[in-house]
Amino acid sequence: MNPVLQLDEVRKHYPGPRAGWIARSRGVVKAVDGASAEIERGTSFALAGESGSGKSTLARMILRLEQPSAGSIRFEGREVAGLAGADLAWYRSRVQAVFQDASGSLDPRMRIGAIVAEPLEIQRAAGGNKLTKQEMREKVQEMLKLVGLPQRVFANYPHELSGGQKQRVAIARAMVLEPALVVLDEPVSALDVSIRAQVLNLLADFQDRLGLSYFLISHDLATLGHVSTRMAVMYLGRIIETGSTDEIYARPLHPYTRALFAAMPVAEPGRVKPAPAMRGEIGSALDLPRGCRFCPRCELAQPVCREVDPPLVQVDAQHAVACHLAAPSLEDTGTP
Ligand code: SF4
Ligand code: MG
Repeated sequence: MNPVLQLDEVRKHYPGPRAGWIARSRGVVKAVDGASAEIERGTSFALAGESGSGKSTLARMILRLEQPSAGSIRFEGREVAGLAGADLAWYRSRVQAVFQDASGSLDPRMRIGAIVAEPLEIQRAAGGNKLTKQEMREKVQEMLKLVGLPQRVFANYPHELSGGQKQRVAIARAMVLEPALVVLDEPVSALDVSIRAQVLNLLADFQDRLGLSYFLISHDLATLGHVSTRMAVMYLGRIIETGSTDEIYARPLHPYTRALFAAMPVAEPGRVKPAPAMRGEIGSALDLPRGCRFCPRCELAQPVCREVDPPLVQVDAQHAVACHLAAPSLEDTGTP
């Protein structure tokens, strides 16, 4: 193992809103409640879950936009929370991000050339490179070419581009420093279905070319399966199933994972057996149920589920699940 990123029991708890104007005590919002994972260098790790599961909070902690309340995030062996000054600048150059909404992440007042050049400018100001203006310009033009944009967009503003083109700009900007890790938060969800595959293929090309690692988060299992080698499914702040993507696609064990697959528009009919549909909505991280946090929505819930929070248990070398019934009895009752 040569992990680029290691998450160990990462938590993010916030003080909750007061229950009423006279209430003295606040609850605690457990947005991320003990997430562990390792991302192998040069591979993609995908995190799946509905909105509200804590995926984006975890991404923001990896990007050092927020600090964990507890646990550890290590990048190339170094504790991210403790980085400051030149070390933090180094981290920010090695770890980049692409978000769902390129329109929101690209400064509307800047031309595309300046947007893609900005990370190089910041790095140069910090003494991290000695590129001349001309070399920077050439580098930006090369990046625009690599993401499949015509050179003329160099002088355009973001509003002059389509959604897909803007996402290509965001990718060019993220890749211009040749980072080790890129956090992709719903990178294609805002795009037309017809161009999603193109953008995912572009990301795969960059991975091959630069040997970089991806931490990809999405609510869309089709996106995740396309590009990841390992994955985890998150529910209300907790990883409830993790393993190799192939194994989880072939043999999802947690009732929640099975429901996500069942809800997925079927691209490969017959691959996954229909699972019972979920009841209701994702719960609140402020008011977690006792026992298993999926219990209120689970068709298979047993009395034990209401009492005991199931730990994440390794079912084989490639697969772990947090469900009292998933290992091994669900197998007996007909896993695909
Ligand atoms: Fe359902 Fe119980 Fe498994 Fe939770 S532990 S997912 S309630 S069967
Ligand atoms: Mg999100």
